[in-house]
Amino acid sequence: MSIKLKPCPCCGHEALIRNLHGEGEKFGSCCTNCFLEIDTVYHSEEAAARAWNRRVPDPVKAELLEALEKLLAWANTSQYEKTCGKAEHDDVVKNRAHVAIARAKEES
Ligand SMILES: [Zn+2]
Repeated sequence: MSIKLKPCPCCGHEALIRNLHGEGEKFGSCCTNCFLEIDTVYHSEEAAARAWNRRVPDPVKAELLEALEKLLAWANTSQYEKTCGKAEHDDVVKNRAHVAIARAKEES
């Protein structure tokens, strides 16, 4: 299977696709920690993975992402340096912000 499973939306732990024994090919998906599962049977691993990875967009997360991107854009302007000066750890903080944005978008 080529689809990477997103972490559990409840506890953040790893999820897996289960082969449900019975007649024919039947698959389900569940969390390995809290055992959250989708109460539907799928006829392929890919379909079970797509169902597990489906998420309702979180409006608060979207707002926070937008704010972080705007803050990062501002931090790259000369206005930022005039106001805040240039600290030696700025690049580290900016790189962390880029990584956080990329991760948040990947998980959405
Ligand atoms: Zn879980």
